Amino acid sequence: GNPQRVEVNILLLGAHNVGKSALTVRFLTRRFIGEYGDIESVYSRVDRIDGQEICFNIWDSQYAQAGEKSSSISDKQLQWADGMILVYNMCDRSSFDVVQQQLQQIRRSRKPSSVPIIIVANKRDLQRHRSVSGEEGRLLALSQHCGFFEVSAAETYHGVLLVFHRLVDLVKETRAIR
Ligand code: GDP
Ligand code: MG
Repeated sequence: GNPQRVEVNILLLGAHNVGKSALTVRFLTRRFIGEYGDIESVYSRVDRIDGQEICFNIWDSQYAQAGEKSSSISDKQLQWADGMILVYNMCDRSSFDVVQQQLQQIRRSRKPSSVPIIIVANKRDLQRHRSVSGEEGRLLALSQHCGFFEVSAAETYHGVLLVFHRLVDLVKETRAIR
C-alpha cells in the first residue's frame, strides 16, 4: 500500500432526524438535498490534506430499527470506529439526551477510552428555536474530553468540512501516541 495513505473510519451517531445523513452527504458531495431516507451505509471519500491522502470511511448509522424506540451502539460499530461524531439537533433537547446516553455507552464499553469524539450541534440555521444553549453543549464536550462544533448542514459546507478534518487530526494524534 501507499505509506502516505491513511484510512480513517468515522461513525456518526445520534438520535433520529438530527441530520446525520445530511452531514454525511454534505461532506461527501458538498450538497444539501433535503430528504435522505433511512439507509444505513458506509461511504468513502479520498481527500488530500497537507500532502497526505486520507481515505474517509463514513458509517451513517440509524438510531433505531423499525419498531424499536431506541437502540444501542453495536459491538461491531464500536470495534470499527477510529473516531466518532455524536450529533444532536440544537432545537431538540431529547436529542441532546441521546448524545449523553450514547457517550455513557461508549465510555462503558470501549477499552481504550481514547477514541476521539466530536459532539456536533446541528441545525444552527434554526437557532432562534434552539432549546440547547451553546454553553451546555460546550460544557458537555469539555467534561467528556470531546471536540465541539455548532454547524448547519443545510447552510454551509465549510463548517461540516472542519468537523471531519478536526476528527482526522485527533485520530492521527491518537495513533501517534499508541
Ligand atoms: P438523520 O435521521 O439523523 O440521518 O437526519 P437526516 O439527515 O435525515 O435529516 C433529518 C431532517 O432534518 C431532514 O428533513 C433534513 O433535511 C433536516 N436537516 C438536516 N440538517 C439540517 C440543518 O442543518 N438545518 C435544517 N433546517 N434542517 C436540517
Ligand atoms: Mg439518516
